[in-house]
Amino acid sequence: MTTTRFAPSPTGYLHVGNLRTALMNYLIARKAGGTFILRIDDTDPERSKEEYVDAIKQDLEWLGLHWDKVERQSTRLDRYATAADTMRANGRFYEAFETPVELDLKRKKQLNMGKPPVYDRAALALSEAERDALRAERGQGVWRFKLDQSRIEWTDGILGDISIDAASVSDPVLIRQDGQVLYTIASVVDDMEMGVTDVVRGSDHVTNTATQIQIIEALGGTAPRFAHHSLLTGPQGEALSKRLGTLALRDLRARGVEPMALLSLMARLGSSDPVELRTDMADLVDGFDIARFGSAPTKFDEADLFPLTGRYLQSLPVAAVQAKIDALGVPANWAEPFWLVMRDNIETLHDLDAWWALCRDGAEPVIDDEDEAFVAEALTMLPQAPFSADTWGTWTAAVKEATGRKGRGLFMPLRKALTGQAHGPDMAALMPLLQVIKAR
Ligand code: GLU
Repeated sequence: MTTTRFAPSPTGYLHVGNLRTALMNYLIARKAGGTFILRIDDTDPERSKEEYVDAIKQDLEWLGLHWDKVERQSTRLDRYATAADTMRANGRFYEAFETPVELDLKRKKQLNMGKPPVYDRAALALSEAERDALRAERGQGVWRFKLDQSRIEWTDGILGDISIDAASVSDPVLIRQDGQVLYTIASVVDDMEMGVTDVVRGSDHVTNTATQIQIIEALGGTAPRFAHHSLLTGPQGEALSKRLGTLALRDLRARGVEPMALLSLMARLGSSDPVELRTDMADLVDGFDIARFGSAPTKFDEADLFPLTGRYLQSLPVAAVQAKIDALGVPANWAEPFWLVMRDNIETLHDLDAWWALCRDGAEPVIDDEDEAFVAEALTMLPQAPFSADTWGTWTAAVKEATGRKGRGLFMPLRKALTGQAHGPDMAALMPLLQVIKAR
């Protein structure tokens, strides 16, 4: 039984980088007919905020990434305490008292000597009396996991065979001085107890994975399958980390990006499969294969989301956008013709605002100097609204006859006069939608 989880910390809004992780875990679970858990990693009471928990759920619901259950780490602290006791009992857990400043000094010394800045395990050499003295002087220490200094190996679902020398990694702190349990152990306990079989996360977690594999073993469990996806960069390969804040899912939503456009892009970006618009989640699930993703950083360009959104909208019948059409105030009998004409001329539903304003209010005519007389003459020949599907053809034929103009020289000035712009829907289809024409 496949079980995956998406485990955000509720310390901010989800962005496209988080989405990649969520989506991969979701697709793996759905493809296998398994379980997708939303796990809220809220062991940090200061940074975790309820409003972000709500926002995470809203964003996932908006995207249609429905979870089968929600777990919260803050309700499972007793489980983590039990795991800590187990590791104390089997000699894999030790208390250390160095202050951050002392640790920093140690690291600097090691680096100066050309050594890797790995924690020197000085605390392991303390006698019981020394420990008591330090505790009396400094209060509780931190609790570190004693790594077995061998090579840690796994076959990663994306990165392939990985081998990390545990001696090159510091014994991880799993419990802070203030008693707060850290993600590294909480996650392991949860993955074991919740039967998680597949963990997909960013490649910034590779070292965590190495230590977590040993922690799982120390707790008597078996490691899940791990896969680490590459991190996103900007279109030029530039780091995206600082800009991720501006790529929050809710901001993309506000800008009119459609869920299926976003999902279609994110489910393929960085894989050897081409990005193709999928209008149905089942198609995304069917076509997903984690093995097709590469380890190279993945370029993400938010601009790609807009043409995809446009293409998605083109596939929709009016019923799918009824709420938007109603909000614009389009009369019921106009809704369908308006949508069928406009859906080919928008990238997002927001673009409908301007098109509806044009239909309802007309546009400020744009007339080039050399076309003044021509347009004035043509407008005298324009029949009274309402217009029909034939109006444009009949009118322009008559204008051509009267003025001798043809082709672009005939059509473009008339388009610009009636719509105030050089681009837009097919004029024959648009004419019946124009309710008001400010005749000049
Ligand atoms: N809360 C962790 C994070 O957001 C989860 C990492 C994991 O998937 O294990 O980075």
